[in-house]
Amino acid sequence: RSAAAVARELLAVAREAISVEAERLGDLDAIAGDGDHGVGMLRGLTAASDAAGRADAEAGVDTVLEAAGDAWAETAGGTSGALWGGALVSLGASLAAAPDLDAEHVGAAIRAARERIESLGGAQPGDKTMLDAIAPFESAFARAAGDGGDVRRALSAGAAAARQAADATADLSPRRGRARPLAERSVGHPDPGAVSFTVVVDAVERRMR
Ligand code: ADP
Ligand code: MG
Ligand code: MG
Repeated sequence: RSAAAVARELLAVAREAISVEAERLGDLDAIAGDGDHGVGMLRGLTAASDAAGRADAEAGVDTVLEAAGDAWAETAGGTSGALWGGALVSLGASLAAAPDLDAEHVGAAIRAARERIESLGGAQPGDKTMLDAIAPFESAFARAAGDGGDVRRALSAGAAAARQAADATADLSPRRGRARPLAERSVGHPDPGAVSFTVVVDAVERRMR
């Protein structure tokens, strides 16, 4: 199957997983933010999945993920939608440029997506954002790939690291985004964007297993 077909399927899988967790994500975001993270993720992923489905059947993974990312950013409203949207566009461009989709090249595409999120949002690991799950995911994925693991093995190593790291964001105090003004309320609860990242990555990992 083509990378574009896999991307379409995984977007649909991620949408399903987020729809199950949307309420919990909204409740988490309501603790120190504005409570819209669940509906925003669901709206964005629905638009992304629909746009990917409408893309030409022969389109490459870059075209499919660009359509999906643009739709996500435009439809979700909110910070996480703009960041996820930009990340998907970068992911697609990097995957399309790779000579093959082994773990090393998929890892490089993950790095490009994380860098895009950093350059768009200006946050660093430790600021209590989705990056606190994404950066450990990227590192564990790259480590497994470097040890000769295939994409599946690297994904499961990455997903495990992301889960642990998202839980650990409970100890952090937010330095970015809408949760910053009520930062002290957020302490003791994980970052919504870090948690939703693990929901997406877990669903993808299960499907690829
Ligand atoms: P909004 O805050 O605009 O309502 P969401 O509720 O959908 O958007 O998303 C909130 C999440 O976005 C946060 O939990 C955090 O993970 C992430 N986030 C916020 N600002 C940034 C940033 N500058 N860089 C990276 N991630 C961020
Ligand atoms: Mg919000
Ligand atoms: Mg909002």
